[in-house]
Amino acid sequence: MPDGLRMSNVSHEFGSNRVLHDVSFDVAPGEIVCLLGPSGCGKTTALRLAAGLEKLQSGHISINGQVVAHAGDYVEPEKRGVGMVFQDYALFPHLTVAKNIGFGLKHFSEAERQEAVTNALAQVGMSGYSDAYPHELSGGQQQRIALARALAPRPQIMLLDEPFSGLDVARRADLRDTTLHVLKNAGIATIMVTHDPQEAMYMGDRIIVMNAGEVMQDGTPESLYFRPENRFVASFFGEVNQFSSTVHNGVIDTPVGQIKAEDYSDGTEVDVLVRPEGLHIADAVNGHDIMANVDAVRALGEVNLMHLTLQKGGHIHARVPRRFSTLNQNSVAITLDPEMTFVFPMS
Ligand code: ATP
Repeated sequence: MPDGLRMSNVSHEFGSNRVLHDVSFDVAPGEIVCLLGPSGCGKTTALRLAAGLEKLQSGHISINGQVVAHAGDYVEPEKRGVGMVFQDYALFPHLTVAKNIGFGLKHFSEAERQEAVTNALAQVGMSGYSDAYPHELSGGQQQRIALARALAPRPQIMLLDEPFSGLDVARRADLRDTTLHVLKNAGIATIMVTHDPQEAMYMGDRIIVMNAGEVMQDGTPESLYFRPENRFVASFFGEVNQFSSTVHNGVIDTPVGQIKAEDYSDGTEVDVLVRPEGLHIADAVNGHDIMANVDAVRALGEVNLMHLTLQKGGHIHARVPRRFSTLNQNSVAITLDPEMTFVFPMS
């Protein structure tokens, strides 16, 4: 069995509520894997089973080749070599930062403990805060201490449950970056639960997309974004424009252009999903262009979102580079980027 963490054929029920169904994945040492999915899809339950906070009902879980849980057998959470960080920091309010971090190091000598605390504080950029109490720190700083506490015993596996979601945008970005570098430098196998696709793409070497207790796709952020295997994954990574059509001679006609579909037989009814950035906008060149009227342009930061109505009917969204904010036309020509267009048989 490989090093790192492996979950094999794990299923779990709370009463009659089936929360996980035959979930399998592994996480190699030094790899960050994000469990991504909507609220209630079973992400936290998978994490709690890996930690040993929930008793396994079926399947098995191994850490560095040792089975730590299968039905009827069970290694206690504190013996699994696992570090954990939760959304709510969970620091002891009456203990200083140093004592919070040192709490899980009772088996260390005093000198070893002090060294581990000092190192962990340095790793998370909080040197000099050892005598502070949690209430004297901001939310972001408290979460850094929670991360230092999880790192100090040098775990082989790190489990993070929505660790940044209580923080404002700037602090979240900052802590996300620190966490990524600390975990990568330490070479720890990490699972991070999140419901935010952008966060998963920022943090994850791999992302496992879950829905209703099942793994929908397991892959690199790039493969999930550019090669989604199903409609759920395609639309979970952001808004899509959707069109229904039928395959004719290996080609699908949509209101925003044609797309090749050589793998589909003639007459197959399909749904075509186009990301807003898959619609390219330009000036009209000739009478064959697909034209749309511009209803509104909104600045989203790095890009603008254009609300368009096709001249042949239908409202669509295009995400375009910012220079289009100067665009003054009432109508624009549209072309389709096949890389950002996904075809699935109609359900
Ligand atoms: P969220 O992002 O909202 O936390 P999640 O994907 O992490 O969602 P889980 O927390 O794993 O999902 O919950 C999955 C399902 O299991 C939900 O329907 C939840 O209500 C249920 N559930 C979780 N823990 C328990 C429990 N201890 N007892 C009964 N039902 C539970």
